[in-house]
Amino acid sequence: MASDEYFFTKYRYDQWIDIRDSDFYQLDHKEDNLKGMPQEEKKFGTVGAAALDVHGHIAAGTSTGGMTNKRYGRIGDSPLLGVGTYANDATCGISCTGHGEYFMRAVVAYDVSCLMEYKGLSLQEACRVVVKEKLVKLGGEGGLIAVDRKGNFDLCYNSEGMYRGVRTSEGINKVAIYKD
Ligand code: ASP
Repeated sequence: MASDEYFFTKYRYDQWIDIRDSDFYQLDHKEDNLKGMPQEEKKFGTVGAAALDVHGHIAAGTSTGGMTNKRYGRIGDSPLLGVGTYANDATCGISCTGHGEYFMRAVVAYDVSCLMEYKGLSLQEACRVVVKEKLVKLGGEGGLIAVDRKGNFDLCYNSEGMYRGVRTSEGINKVAIYKD
């Protein structure tokens, strides 16, 4: 347990003050919100992972601060299995980031898995359909990281950029922010 002061950061507090009297809410890691922020403080709300182990088991996890100015008690998409996070040994593991309300409407992570399971799409095709077509039509911005049971991976987003990285046993080791 830690006191409230432990969790206080002036930068995030000021972000909230700017927006709190409005009905708006925003992603805390939107690039516009990071201007003027010292490099060492550029930590971002969302941390997600998806992994396949040598036994063929897939796991995924997502941690987030949610959205700035979110309503008290709001539950975002991140902890909702099948929405912001999902893993199924038969198909894929997924971790999402973005405007949770839209990800919930689209049941994003499970939808990717279903497109693979029931429609026979590849991981990449399924991610493209959900992130670049379905979410875009709804107005939802964000992306996901994904791995399938054969070790194929996809880092797919419809926003300007997404902090992402991948590492494989074949030696791929790569990080990126904007388009490749
Ligand atoms: N998806 C999160 C939410 O809506 C925000 C994020 O971390 O990307 O709560």
